[in-house]
Amino acid sequence: MLTKELYEKACNRALTYLDKAAIVITEEEKMKMQVAEYGLGDLENIGLQLLVYVNTHRCCAKELILFPEQTCPEHRHPPVGGEPGKEETFRCRWGKVYLYVPGEPAQNPKARLPKDRESFFTVWHEIELNPGEQYTLEPDTLHWFQAGLQGAVISEFSTQSRDEFDIYTDPKINPAQKRTV
Ligand code: ZN
Repeated sequence: MLTKELYEKACNRALTYLDKAAIVITEEEKMKMQVAEYGLGDLENIGLQLLVYVNTHRCCAKELILFPEQTCPEHRHPPVGGEPGKEETFRCRWGKVYLYVPGEPAQNPKARLPKDRESFFTVWHEIELNPGEQYTLEPDTLHWFQAGLQGAVISEFSTQSRDEFDIYTDPKINPAQKRTV
Protein backbone atom coordinates (compact mmCIF):
# COMPACT_ATOMS: atom_id res chain seq x y z
CA MET A 1 0.00 0.00 0.00
CA LEU A 2 1.15 3.51 -0.77
CA THR A 3 1.43 5.29 2.57
CA LYS A 4 1.75 9.06 2.85
CA GLU A 5 5.34 8.59 4.01
CA LEU A 6 6.23 6.40 1.03
CA TYR A 7 4.45 8.78 -1.35
CA GLU A 8 6.34 11.82 -0.04
CA LYS A 9 9.65 10.02 -0.09
CA ALA A 10 9.11 8.90 -3.70
CA CYS A 11 8.02 12.39 -4.78
CA ASN A 12 11.03 14.05 -3.22
CA ARG A 13 13.34 11.51 -4.78
CA ALA A 14 11.65 11.99 -8.17
CA LEU A 15 12.21 15.75 -7.95
CA THR A 16 15.96 15.16 -7.71
CA TYR A 17 15.76 13.28 -11.03
CA LEU A 18 13.93 16.17 -12.69
CA ASP A 19 16.79 18.38 -11.49
CA LYS A 20 19.31 16.04 -13.08
CA ALA A 21 17.34 16.31 -16.34
CA ALA A 22 17.28 20.12 -15.97
CA ILE A 23 13.48 20.07 -16.18
CA VAL A 24 12.00 23.01 -14.32
CA ILE A 25 8.53 22.74 -12.76
CA THR A 26 6.62 25.14 -10.55
CA GLU A 27 6.06 24.78 -6.81
CA GLU A 28 2.40 24.12 -7.62
CA GLU A 29 3.38 21.28 -9.94
CA LYS A 30 5.63 19.79 -7.27
CA MET A 31 2.48 19.31 -5.20
CA LYS A 32 0.79 17.48 -8.09
CA MET A 33 3.33 14.72 -8.50
CA GLN A 34 1.79 11.26 -8.59
CA VAL A 35 3.18 7.91 -7.56
CA ALA A 36 1.87 4.72 -9.16
CA GLU A 37 2.54 1.54 -7.23
CA TYR A 38 -0.28 -0.43 -8.86
CA GLY A 39 -1.50 -1.92 -5.58
CA LEU A 40 1.44 -4.35 -5.60
CA GLY A 41 3.33 -2.92 -2.63
CA ASP A 42 6.68 -3.19 -4.41
CA LEU A 43 7.34 0.37 -5.56
CA GLU A 44 11.11 -0.03 -5.81
CA ASN A 45 10.62 -2.69 -8.49
CA ILE A 46 7.20 -2.08 -10.03
CA GLY A 47 5.97 1.49 -10.15
CA LEU A 48 6.71 4.98 -11.34
CA GLN A 49 6.45 8.63 -10.50
CA LEU A 50 4.73 11.09 -12.81
CA LEU A 51 3.61 14.63 -13.37
CA VAL A 52 0.70 15.27 -15.75
CA TYR A 53 1.09 18.62 -17.54
CA VAL A 54 -2.12 18.38 -19.55
CA ASN A 55 -4.79 15.75 -20.26
CA THR A 56 -7.67 16.94 -22.42
CA HIS A 57 -10.06 15.04 -24.65
CA ARG A 58 -7.51 15.32 -27.46
CA CYS A 59 -4.02 15.29 -26.00
CA CYS A 60 -1.92 14.49 -22.98
CA ALA A 61 1.63 15.32 -21.87
CA LYS A 62 3.44 13.96 -18.82
CA GLU A 63 6.84 13.61 -17.28
CA LEU A 64 7.67 10.10 -16.07
CA ILE A 65 10.39 9.47 -13.53
CA LEU A 66 11.76 5.98 -12.95
CA PHE A 67 14.22 5.06 -10.22
CA PRO A 68 17.10 2.70 -11.10
CA GLU A 69 15.67 -0.49 -12.63
CA GLN A 70 12.13 0.50 -11.68
CA THR A 71 9.54 -0.94 -14.07
CA CYS A 72 6.24 0.19 -15.52
CA PRO A 73 4.32 -3.10 -15.84
CA GLU A 74 3.06 -4.55 -19.12
CA HIS A 75 -0.21 -3.09 -20.37
CA ARG A 76 -2.10 -1.85 -23.42
CA HIS A 77 -4.57 0.91 -24.17
CA PRO A 78 -7.61 -0.63 -25.90
CA PRO A 79 -10.21 1.10 -28.10
CA VAL A 80 -12.83 2.92 -26.04
CA GLY A 81 -16.16 4.33 -27.15
CA GLY A 82 -15.47 4.01 -30.86
CA GLU A 83 -12.02 5.62 -30.57
CA PRO A 84 -8.88 3.60 -31.33
CA GLY A 85 -7.19 3.76 -27.90
CA LYS A 86 -4.28 5.80 -26.68
CA GLU A 87 -1.30 6.46 -28.96
CA GLU A 88 1.82 7.40 -27.05
CA THR A 89 5.33 8.66 -27.68
CA PHE A 90 8.10 8.22 -25.13
CA ARG A 91 11.10 10.53 -25.31
CA CYS A 92 14.05 9.89 -23.03
CA ARG A 93 15.31 13.10 -21.39
CA TRP A 94 17.83 11.74 -18.92
CA GLY A 95 19.27 8.34 -18.00
CA LYS A 96 18.30 5.31 -20.03
CA VAL A 97 15.13 3.32 -20.57
CA TYR A 98 14.50 -0.11 -22.05
CA LEU A 99 11.11 -0.26 -23.74
CA TYR A 100 9.58 -3.63 -24.65
CA VAL A 101 7.03 -4.14 -27.41
CA PRO A 102 5.80 -7.05 -29.59
CA GLY A 103 8.35 -8.35 -32.10
CA GLU A 104 11.57 -10.36 -32.23
CA PRO A 105 12.47 -11.02 -28.56
CA ALA A 106 15.85 -9.73 -27.34
CA GLN A 107 18.42 -12.53 -26.95
CA ASN A 108 19.84 -10.98 -23.81
CA PRO A 109 17.33 -8.42 -22.56
CA LYS A 110 18.80 -5.72 -20.36
CA ALA A 111 15.78 -5.49 -18.08
CA ARG A 112 15.79 -7.61 -14.96
CA LEU A 113 12.53 -8.58 -13.28
CA PRO A 114 11.65 -10.14 -9.95
CA LYS A 115 11.32 -13.90 -10.65
CA ASP A 116 7.78 -14.12 -9.33
CA ARG A 117 6.62 -11.45 -11.79
CA GLU A 118 8.29 -12.62 -14.98
CA SER A 119 5.17 -14.40 -16.25
CA PHE A 120 3.32 -11.07 -16.42
CA PHE A 121 5.78 -9.77 -19.01
CA THR A 122 5.14 -11.33 -22.42
CA VAL A 123 6.63 -8.95 -25.03
CA TRP A 124 10.42 -8.81 -25.25
CA HIS A 125 11.38 -6.83 -28.35
CA GLU A 126 13.80 -4.35 -26.82
CA ILE A 127 14.13 -0.68 -27.72
CA GLU A 128 16.84 1.24 -25.89
CA LEU A 129 16.15 4.93 -25.47
CA ASN A 130 18.90 7.34 -24.50
CA PRO A 131 18.50 11.10 -23.99
CA GLY A 132 17.06 12.70 -27.12
CA GLU A 133 15.69 9.42 -28.49
CA GLN A 134 11.99 8.64 -28.76
CA TYR A 135 9.56 5.93 -29.84
CA THR A 136 5.88 6.04 -30.80
CA LEU A 137 3.49 3.23 -29.89
CA GLU A 138 0.36 2.54 -31.90
CA PRO A 139 -2.87 2.20 -29.89
CA ASP A 140 -3.60 -1.16 -28.24
CA THR A 141 0.07 -2.32 -28.40
CA LEU A 142 1.33 -4.28 -25.40
CA HIS A 143 4.28 -2.50 -23.79
CA TRP A 144 6.32 -2.14 -20.64
CA PHE A 145 9.55 -0.42 -19.74
CA GLN A 146 12.35 -0.37 -17.22
CA ALA A 147 14.92 2.29 -16.36
CA GLY A 148 18.64 1.57 -16.58
CA LEU A 149 20.98 1.58 -13.60
CA GLN A 150 20.86 5.35 -13.16
CA GLY A 151 17.10 5.71 -13.46
CA ALA A 152 15.35 7.73 -16.16
CA VAL A 153 13.30 10.78 -16.93
CA ILE A 154 10.94 10.33 -19.86
CA SER A 155 8.55 12.78 -21.50
CA GLU A 156 5.34 11.23 -22.73
CA PHE A 157 3.18 12.80 -25.44
CA SER A 158 -0.09 11.05 -26.23
CA THR A 159 -3.75 11.19 -27.01
CA GLN A 160 -6.08 11.34 -24.02
CA SER A 161 -5.17 9.24 -20.97
CA ARG A 162 -8.06 7.21 -19.58
CA ASP A 163 -6.33 5.01 -17.04
CA GLU A 164 -9.47 3.18 -15.97
CA PHE A 165 -9.74 1.41 -19.34
CA ASP A 166 -6.14 0.18 -19.53
CA ILE A 167 -5.54 -3.56 -19.54
CA TYR A 168 -2.67 -5.04 -17.53
CA THR A 169 -1.16 -8.47 -18.06
CA ASP A 170 -0.85 -8.98 -14.30
CA PRO A 171 -4.38 -9.65 -13.00
CA LYS A 172 -3.32 -8.46 -9.54
CA ILE A 173 -3.11 -4.92 -10.85
CA ASN A 174 -6.33 -3.24 -9.93
CA PRO A 175 -7.41 -0.89 -12.73
CA ALA A 176 -9.20 1.33 -10.24
CA GLN A 177 -6.02 1.93 -8.23
CA LYS A 178 -3.32 2.31 -10.78
CA ARG A 179 -2.27 5.23 -12.87
CA THR A 180 -0.81 4.47 -16.23
CA VAL A 181 1.40 5.91 -18.87
ZN1 ZN B 1 1.04 2.88 -21.87
